[in-house]
Amino acid sequence: MAVPKRKTSKAKKKSRRANWRLMLPGMSECPNCKATKLTHRVCKVCGYYNGKQVVKKDS
Ligand SMILES: [Zn+2]
Repeated sequence: MAVPKRKTSKAKKKSRRANWRLMLPGMSECPNCKATKLTHRVCKVCGYYNGKQVVKKDS
């Protein structure tokens, strides 16, 4: 079985975990109103998801 040649340094390990933390919230841009929204969730601002208005927003 393949075994890593070098021990992972503290800095390398920490940077890898920092990246994972950044990815966790799963933020993306709404294609309709350009607001930051959570992925796989209906946009809170305009109520759009997958190119359609799923939740009615009247304002
Ligand atoms: Zn939106």
